[in-house]
Amino acid sequence: MKQRTLPVILCVVIILLGPPSFTDARSDDASFEKPVVIIDPGHTNKMPGAVSITGKYEVTYNDNLVSMISKALIGAGFDPILTRNPNQEITLEDRASIANSHHALAMLSIHHDSAQGVYLESIEQNGKKTYQTRKPISGYSIFVSKKNQEFERSFIFAKLLGEELIKLGRKPTLHHAEPIPGEGRPLLDAELGIYQYDDLVVLKQTKIPAVLLEIGVIVDRFDEAYVTRRDHQESIVNAIVISLREFKNRGAETGTDLNLGGGSGSGRSNQLK
Ligand SMILES: [Zn+2]
Repeated sequence: MKQRTLPVILCVVIILLGPPSFTDARSDDASFEKPVVIIDPGHTNKMPGAVSITGKYEVTYNDNLVSMISKALIGAGFDPILTRNPNQEITLEDRASIANSHHALAMLSIHHDSAQGVYLESIEQNGKKTYQTRKPISGYSIFVSKKNQEFERSFIFAKLLGEELIKLGRKPTLHHAEPIPGEGRPLLDAELGIYQYDDLVVLKQTKIPAVLLEIGVIVDRFDEAYVTRRDHQESIVNAIVISLREFKNRGAETGTDLNLGGGSGSGRSNQLK
């Protein structure tokens, strides 16, 4: 975390630190029979994340997709709980606290990706300075933390998610594994684009299976265009819903209550290998 460009610094800082105050987005006791899923829209208006090639902040992309994910999950019989509403400020610790205060199946944090400064060049877009990739960098990335007490089940969820995204024809971007400052993340599964990132607060402090998904690289001209197409967004949302349904079903198959986070989930990672 040394000499980065501004969008990367913002993105990393908000993930690692984050600002104060929150209220629960929604809590519905009547829906206890539906699987609760925590959906975490990355960043806030005050800490808006990366600037895309079109000059929009990452938080805008995150909020838009989370709104679609939430509606799709409700339609699929889940009970999604958001860690924050649009325009709400919240700390990373509070995001984890919300996830831990419900008997939830899993937590999924939604982000859109940037790249280190060495891969970026500044351009002017409608009079505004933005960044674009010097070479094509596209695709999704999935992060899990070994400091999460439910790491093994987090990894299972991550694999299911990666498998569904691959089915769409998406590819993982492997640039976070590059041996450069700020990257060098260990790849736990290169084919599925799953990285180990132990110190992400929303992953390590969450006591239920937790995954962070970078939907696409918004400083890349082609990937930004991909992730802003409505039909692509719908396909990605559908892949997320399928992966959560499959994750829930895997728990039922093995007699494991995946609704109850809390340290009893070790030893099941082999079922997807
Ligand atoms: Zn982000």
